[in-house]
Amino acid sequence: MVIDARPLYRELTAFLEGHAIPDAAFDVRCMFEQVTGERLERLLEEGIPAEDENPLRNMAQRRAFGEPLQYILGEWEFFGLRIFVGKGVLIPRPDTETLVEAVLDDCRGRTSPRIADLCCGSGCIALALWSQRPDAEILGIDLSEAALAYARQNTAFHRAPVQLLQGDVLAAETAQSCGKWDVIVSNPPYLTTFEMGQLQTEVRSEPPEALAGGTDGLDYYRAITELWTPMLADGGLLAYEIGEQQGAAVADLLRAHGYIQVRILRDLAKHDRVVLGLRPGAARSQGGA
Ligand code: GLN
Repeated sequence: MVIDARPLYRELTAFLEGHAIPDAAFDVRCMFEQVTGERLERLLEEGIPAEDENPLRNMAQRRAFGEPLQYILGEWEFFGLRIFVGKGVLIPRPDTETLVEAVLDDCRGRTSPRIADLCCGSGCIALALWSQRPDAEILGIDLSEAALAYARQNTAFHRAPVQLLQGDVLAAETAQSCGKWDVIVSNPPYLTTFEMGQLQTEVRSEPPEALAGGTDGLDYYRAITELWTPMLADGGLLAYEIGEQQGAAVADLLRAHGYIQVRILRDLAKHDRVVLGLRPGAARSQGGA
């Protein structure tokens, strides 16, 4: 049986607005389109199968209680790729595309680069890099079994030969067991303890271990830079996503570890978002880059 979609669409939108959900109409649109596989415009014209009503009501209920839309949908787009997500894994942010672009830019001068993605979460960065550079050899490492389960699902879905490893990137054995890298990229947890106390409801649903970077938010940058710099090839690139206040501190950290051409890049909202630098050495200049 087909039912009119319009009253349900209006009811659920008003319901979410009543719960102060900022983009209520957009969220309800995403739910309708996800459940039916059709565009909303068409559904409003032609109706929806009656059996879709309850799933839609359940989704709206979850959203009203503050669960992130991305978890409810079970997927989100990153760099044009479908990325499966859910409880236990960080939701890909558009800001992180700035990090991907920066790495791709640098990799123009490299052939079949070996790339390590530390704290890979859903695998969105590794997959975005692979989608543009299928010649690269890419390994994603994460401590969380829940996150890695999504990363495995995502690499399998895209049939991407991205390798995944469960490991603690802050442990010297992990760093030393994986060989040398042309590129090390990471979007580590970087929120300060103060920021962790101020999280909006949606972000509180995300795993704190993917967000909390210690008192000043810099714990992972210090430890990764210390442990992984020796694993970077001469001329290799280290590229971090950072919190918008962390640019100067992370750039100084890289310089203190001998990195050259250290730069801070901004995201589309003009916030500092990426710090990168090169490990000195001849490999890069010989390539003419
Ligand atoms: N950008 C995320 C946030 O502000 C933080 C991600 C991270 O810690 N790597 O919610």
